[in-house]
Formats: sequence, C-alpha cells, structure tokens
Amino acid sequence: MSCLLHAESLYGVIGHPVGHSLSPLMHNDQFQHQGMPSFYHAFDVLPQHLEEAVQGLKALGVSGFNVTVPHKIEVMQYLDGLDEEARLIGAVNTVVNEENGWIGYNTDGEGYVQSLLTKTGDMLRDADILVIGAGGAARAVISALTGHGAKRVTLTNRTFSKAEALQERLAERAGIRALPTEEAEKETSSFDIIINTTSVGMSPHTENMPWPVENLKPGCICSDLIYNPLKTKWLQEAQKAGADILNGTGMFVGQGAIAFQKWTGIHPDTERMHDVVMKQLGGN
Ligand code: NAP
Repeated sequence: MSCLLHAESLYGVIGHPVGHSLSPLMHNDQFQHQGMPSFYHAFDVLPQHLEEAVQGLKALGVSGFNVTVPHKIEVMQYLDGLDEEARLIGAVNTVVNEENGWIGYNTDGEGYVQSLLTKTGDMLRDADILVIGAGGAARAVISALTGHGAKRVTLTNRTFSKAEALQERLAERAGIRALPTEEAEKETSSFDIIINTTSVGMSPHTENMPWPVENLKPGCICSDLIYNPLKTKWLQEAQKAGADILNGTGMFVGQGAIAFQKWTGIHPDTERMHDVVMKQLGGN
C-alpha cells in the first residue's frame, strides 16, 4: 500500500474497546479487491474523547467512518444531519462525509433484514415475529423489519418497561406489540420467526439460552444476532428441535456492505466479505 494516502481515502471505526473489531479486516480486503488505494483503521476512543475524535476526523476530511459501542448515541450531537432511519432508531453506526455535511446513518437493521430475507423471502411481511431484547440492536432490527413491511412484530425483554418504551418509540410504524416474557413464552408455538437481539449466549457465557426451544412452530426460523460463537447453544438446540437457523455474521457483513456503498458508491463483493469474516471466526 502507498504511504501517500489522501485523507479522502481514509475510513475507520471509532469505539471502545475496538481491538476485537473485524471491520478493518473486512473493509481493507474489499478495498484491495476493488483496486482502491484506501485504508480502514480501528480507533479506540474513550467516551471523554469522543467529541475531539469526531472533530479531528472531520478536520482531516476522511470520507466516512463507522461508530460502535459505546458511541452510537452520543455521536449524533456532533453530526450535521441524520438519515430518517437513524433518527427513528436513535443511534448511528455509519457517518458519511457528504456535500451537505457529515450525515449519520444506521445500517445495522437493514444489514440484518437483508440477511433474514435470504431465508424468508416475501413471507416476512405476513410472518409472526418475536424479537427478544430492547437494546440498541433491537431498535435497529425492529425498525428495519417494519420498514420492510413486517406487520406482526412482538417484542419482549427482561426489563419489560424498556420493551414498552421501544413500542412507543416505534409507534409511527404499525404493528408492534410489547409482551412480558412469561406471556410471550406461552405463545412460542405461534411465531414463524424468533430473533434474539440480547447478548445471552455470547462468549464467554456460551451455556446460556435466551428462549426455550420447546414448542417451536414447525419450520420456525430461529435467528441470533450473535456471531461469537458462530452457533450459539440456543441455535444448536433450536436446530436439533427442527428449526431453520441464522447467525449474526450476515448482519455484520450486511451493515458493512451498506456502509461501504454509501462511502464509495461501489457495491462491494458481499460473498467475499462474508468469506473473510468466516475465515477469521474459524467457520467455513
Ligand atoms: P444493549 O443495547 O446493551 O442491549 C442488551 C439487551 O440484552 C437488552 O435488551 C438486555 O435486557 C438484554 N440482556 C442482557 N443480558 C441479559 C440477560 N442476562 N438476560 C436477559 N436479557 C439480557 O446491546 P445491543 O447493542 O443491543 O447488542 C445486543 C447483542 O446484539 C449483542 O450480543 C451484540 O453482539 C449483538 N449485535 C450484533 C451485531 C451484528 O452485526 N451481528 C450488531 C449489533 C449488535 P435489559 O434491558 O433487561 O438489560
């Protein structure tokens, strides 16, 4: 790679911690594949340095950057505008240096739904969908699901008040119902798709499961946003019980691919991005 990179060829992710991020690997491989003299770096930014970091990236004139935990909400105040979806979700994971300023987007939900659609096709609209969790990822996923026309989305969360607050936040999108966990569990056999957006089952607590696998509807899709491990215990058990399963790698690749396109105008080779990520995670 040339040492004479122009600032507009620079990209990155700001977060804390970010040492584990697979984004540099995925994007740098794609830049190389596309023959672009560009570079993506992971910047570990402490919360107290967020404003300086964002102003610094703006002053340098990079073309764009990703934002990850814990900065997805706080970063919004330092941007010039928000895309409609990011405003509704209330969080930004992608910033683009545009003609009219630094604009914040959220590509997490759309990235997820693109991967889910490979399993569901058009049946998504009429499916009975259960989303477990009410954090940032749930917000993005539910917003994108309803944006794709999903009409029947049930939301449940350990802290029920957060599920209710999220239902209210997304009320402008029809068809979301918050249910306490015990009540939602009784309806398990009615759901066509069950999506875990909580961190339950993520490494190192890999023995935990977010939802029982008894009484799953035949043909049900069980989907976990987690990709570490690649197949959570819940996905393993759900598969044994006959469910079709989907892990979080498609979402990760999807959100990155949409960001790549927004920054460069080029549609990346998503299959290659997926392969790079899977190889790093020890999958096939
Ligand atoms: P977050 O905002 O902190 O939300 C965490 C959610 O998990 C909350 O609903 C929380 O419930 C629930 N939770 C945590 N521990 C729990 C437990 N022991 N029992 C029951 N519920 C529990 O986090 P987030 O940003 O939404 O991320 C959530 C998950 O999504 C993480 O595993 C993350 O890795 C994954 N994710 C994946 C991708 C991808 O590209 N594949 C992208 C983003 C996120 P309470 O409200 O009760 O605390």
